[in-house]
Amino acid sequence: MTVICWFRRVLRLDDHPALVAAAQDGPVIPLVILDGAEARNHPASAQRQAMALPALEAALQARGSRLVVRRGDPATVLAQVIRDSGALAVHASEGMPFARDQGLHDAVAAGGARLHLHPLADLVPRGRVLTKGGTPFKVFTPFWRALRRTDIAEPLPAPRLRAPDTWPGSDGPDWPEARAAMNRGWPVVARHVQAGEAAAHARLDAFLKRVTAGYAEARDRPAKGDATSGLSDALAVGEISARRVWHRALRAQDQGRGGIEDFLRELAWREFARELFHAAPDMDRTCWRPEWNDFPWQGDGPDAEAWRQGRTGVAMVDAGMREMFATGRMHNRVRMIAASFLVKHLMIDWRVGLDWFARCLTDWDAASNAMNWQWVAGCGPDASPFFRVFNPDGQAGKFDARRLYRDHWLQGDGARDFARAAPRSWGSDPGRRPAPLVDLDQGRRRALAAYRGFARKD
Ligand code: FAD
Repeated sequence: MTVICWFRRVLRLDDHPALVAAAQDGPVIPLVILDGAEARNHPASAQRQAMALPALEAALQARGSRLVVRRGDPATVLAQVIRDSGALAVHASEGMPFARDQGLHDAVAAGGARLHLHPLADLVPRGRVLTKGGTPFKVFTPFWRALRRTDIAEPLPAPRLRAPDTWPGSDGPDWPEARAAMNRGWPVVARHVQAGEAAAHARLDAFLKRVTAGYAEARDRPAKGDATSGLSDALAVGEISARRVWHRALRAQDQGRGGIEDFLRELAWREFARELFHAAPDMDRTCWRPEWNDFPWQGDGPDAEAWRQGRTGVAMVDAGMREMFATGRMHNRVRMIAASFLVKHLMIDWRVGLDWFARCLTDWDAASNAMNWQWVAGCGPDASPFFRVFNPDGQAGKFDARRLYRDHWLQGDGARDFARAAPRSWGSDPGRRPAPLVDLDQGRRRALAAYRGFARKD
C-alpha cells in the first residue's frame, strides 16, 4: 500500500514520527506543499522553508527516494496527490495550533484515503507536563521545573524508505510567490541563512563546543553574535528536532560543558509557548487575559510604519528593526526592546508588531511569536507587567555599552545591507538619523497614565 508522508514544517529525516509511521505502512511518497497563504502572510519563513528543500531532496535521493513538491492550498493538493498516486493513507505531523487541522481529515477522506496526524517531535507530547491539578501550566518557572523532571523521549532514527512503483509529478522547490511577497531583496537575507538538516546539526555541534557558563549573560549582548546557538530558524522549519537538540545538549553537559542548563531553559520557553498555544489556539489574535482586549491600543498608522522601517529615531529600536529586515533575524534582547517600544512608548496594538515579525522573521514560529508579544505587551500569562516599561536607551547602555551593535546597523556594514534590502519607497538614507518619534520619558508617562486609567475601570 503506497502512502504519502506530508512533510509539514518537519523538513528532515531524523526524528520524524510521521515518516517513521509512513515507512512502516508501505512505500512512501514524501510530499511538501508550498501553501500560497503562508507565502503571503509569512514570506520570510516561507522562503526559508523553500531553502531547506534542495538538501531534503538530496537526502531522500541518497536513500533511493524522491521529494514531490506541489504548490497550492493543502486540502486541494492532498486530494490531487491521492488521486495521482492511489495512496490509501497520508501521514503528517499535527499542525500548530492543532485546532486548525480539522478540515484536512475531510479533504483526505474525500480523496479516498485516511489522514494520520502524529505529534510533533517536541520535547514532550502536549498534555504530558501538567500541574498537580491536571491543568496546563500558566507560569513558566513551575513548568520548567516539571519539564526538567520529565524523561524526554530519545529521538527516532531516520527510517529505511521504499519507493512506490510510480511517482506523481513535482513542481520543484523554487517558490517565486514567497520571494515576491518578501518585498525586499531576498539575496540580502539569504546570505544569513544556512539551510538543511546537516547544516543544522553542524551548527548545534559547533555551539555545544563553544558554549560556556557565561551563556546566560552573553546571550543578552546583541553584538556578541556567536553567544547563542542560532538554531531558531532550523527549529522553526523542522530541520532539527527539539528532542535531538535536548539530548545532544545533555550529553555535552555530562562531558562537563558549562551553560547547558540555561540553554535547556531556553528550549523550555519554546516548549512552554507550544503548550500555551495548544491550550489557547487563538493566542496569536486575542489577548490571553481577556480583560486586555479592551485596552485602548492605537491601531496601525504612520508611527507603526516608522517603527517597521527602522525610523523611530531611537537607536536601539531602529538598529533591531534594520537587522530583522536585512537578515530575517533579530537578537532576542533587541526583540524585547523593539516590541516594548511599540506597545508601550507608542501604545500600538501588539498584533501590529506580531504581524510584522511574522512577515520578516526567518525563524517565525506562531507559538513563540504570540507568547513573546503577549509577554511584552503585558496581556499574556506570566507576562511582564505593563507598568514595567523598558527604557530603550537604558537597555542599550547596559547591553550594547560599546555601541558595536547600534553602530553596525545605523552606520556600518549593516546599514549598507539594510539600504540594499529596503524598498526604494522607504527612501532610506542609511546615514541619516531621524528625530525621536516620542520623548522617552513622555512616552513612558503616557503609557503609565493609560494603564492606570484602564486598571481603574477594571
Ligand atoms: P538560543 O539562545 O540559542 O536558544 C535556543 C532555542 O531556545 C532557540 O533557538 C529557540 O527555539 C528557543 N528560545 C530562546 N528564547 C526563546 C523565547 N524567548 N521564546 C521561545 N523560545 C525561545 N523565537 C522564534 O523561534 N520564533 C519567533 O517567531 C519568535 N518571535 C519572538 C518575538 C518576540 C517579541 C520576542 C521577544 C522573542 C521572539 N522569539 C521567537 C524568541 C527568541 O527571540 C528567539 O528564539 C531567539 O532569538 C533565537 O535565537 P537562538 O536560536 O540563537 O537562541
